[in-house]
Amino acid sequence: MPELPEVETVKRGLAPTFEGAKIVSVDQNRPDLRFAFPDRFASRLAGQRVAALSRRSKYLLADIDSGDVLVMHLGMSGSFRVENDSVQHAPGDFAHERNKDPKHDHVVFHLETSESATARIIYNDPRRFGFMTLIPRPQMDEHAYFKDLGMEPLGNDLSGETLARLFAGRKSPLKAALLNQKLIAGLGNIYVCEALWRSGLSPERVAGTLTTTSGKPTKKAEELAIHIRETLHDAIRAGGSSLRDHTKADGTLGYFQHSFAVYDREGEACRKKGCKGTIARLVQSNRSTFHCPVCQS
Ligand SMILES: [Zn+2]
Repeated sequence: MPELPEVETVKRGLAPTFEGAKIVSVDQNRPDLRFAFPDRFASRLAGQRVAALSRRSKYLLADIDSGDVLVMHLGMSGSFRVENDSVQHAPGDFAHERNKDPKHDHVVFHLETSESATARIIYNDPRRFGFMTLIPRPQMDEHAYFKDLGMEPLGNDLSGETLARLFAGRKSPLKAALLNQKLIAGLGNIYVCEALWRSGLSPERVAGTLTTTSGKPTKKAEELAIHIRETLHDAIRAGGSSLRDHTKADGTLGYFQHSFAVYDREGEACRKKGCKGTIARLVQSNRSTFHCPVCQS
């Protein structure tokens, strides 16, 4: 499953081609992916201009001039590639090897990117857990995919203050609270482990302990907010650099996963300066949590 930084990197990689382009036509090569495509999917897009490309949680959103939003989710194995006269690249192709077999090219957007230039954006998905749909913009906030989503962890909304408000009175373990998509949207297991380690906070600590009795953030809450953002930004930067370096089309990059400080490092020495701890694994809500029992409390 792609994590938020990968989806963000895909968005940034597609935006220069997709934004402002006119969709000349769409090849929809199957009736369904994980779900059926909506009625008249291709014809509702043909002839329309893409006003903006954005992201909410792990959904990519293309605002179309007709007023529809093209909602795209990569599922487990979905990927995009961009082709034009001179360039072929696969935005966000940094964490997983991507499939290149054209028999899994399920959707092709034929674009006019300027008066004299065309491009194609191709969606490939061998396992077909991804999906695409069209939702009228005014219905987005109430749609089942979006109505219960919490705040975005990137950007200035996430702060010690907001964590204090979200976690006040919560008895659940801190890690579970951070993974609760109704509180914070799109934060995944890897990045929660990393941010907790950077903050010196135990994943098993009671979430409500980051809020003082008067409802203010503790110092640790302030630090955690900063570390969540930094962890995600570091991952996006790593994806971005692999994008720039991605002149070969073989797709196996994976720079960032080698730089995890705690995730998947059970039994290894803690990398925190001066800490003599060993990274341990525990299971919370059926998911592996990696942490240092010495410097995280
Ligand atoms: Zn440690």
